[in-house]
Amino acid sequence: MHKHKKSLSQNFLIDKNVIIKILDRVSPSNSDFFLEIGPGDGALTYPLIDKISKLIVIEKDQALSVKLSDMFSKNNNITVINHDVLKIDLNKYIKDRVRVIGNLPYNVATEIIFLLLDSKIIIQDIHIMLQKEMVDRISAPPGNKQYGRISVMVQANYEVKKLFDISPNVFEPKPKVWSSYMRLIPKKKVFIDETHKENFRKLVTLAFLSRRKMIKTSLKDSISLNEIHHIIGDEKIRPEQLSYNQFIEMAKYV
Ligand code: SAM
Repeated sequence: MHKHKKSLSQNFLIDKNVIIKILDRVSPSNSDFFLEIGPGDGALTYPLIDKISKLIVIEKDQALSVKLSDMFSKNNNITVINHDVLKIDLNKYIKDRVRVIGNLPYNVATEIIFLLLDSKIIIQDIHIMLQKEMVDRISAPPGNKQYGRISVMVQANYEVKKLFDISPNVFEPKPKVWSSYMRLIPKKKVFIDETHKENFRKLVTLAFLSRRKMIKTSLKDSISLNEIHHIIGDEKIRPEQLSYNQFIEMAKYV
């Protein structure tokens, strides 16, 4: 019996209906190549493996990785990697267009999302389970009190769709919070080049460092007041009122 490690956010899905619902929304096909982050004891891996062409799973827990390797020893389309996903060079393992799936460890979910945002691997889509509160933040519109740096960063790069909420009762052990399942589809040609992308990231980070400040104050060393005025019209505005498109536009003039 596996002893669940709190430090690795190990809450395992035990409800078949939720697993079926997830697979239904992911809609895997036999030519697909998948990356699963945090497979745990294989709740999503099992139903996925026979439906697709190739699967790489990255699991930090060594005991679980050994268990997964044993369980799937007869499947030649799966690679089990025992590693911290945050410390691995994904490019080394992923050369083709990949679909990402995972019931993410909530304690490092933000880092994993930023890792995927920054990664050079070609992603077809991402289906992930996160804390509900985090999905609400990611999908919040400007002006909403949940709207923040992660909403702008993710919405600029992906089409965001919250799929459904998941009760704590379908996990073992039960987490304290509700979860949500979401789909992210990368947008094409958001930035002119890498410099534009990097400037966008810097501007968004800077603006939300002091979200109570007007952006004419927080961004004054990065972009001229004239440009702010030209793009936004009102330089007294605060960051949570700006759309990701306005940040993308401003980043052209940094
Ligand atoms: N996919 C399984 C499920 O749905 O039942 C397990 C999900 S559990 C919420 C998160 C999993 O991620 C655990 O198996 C945990 O050991 C693993 N994990 C935690 N931190 C990780 C990291 N940094 N890199 C890779 N895996 C990690």
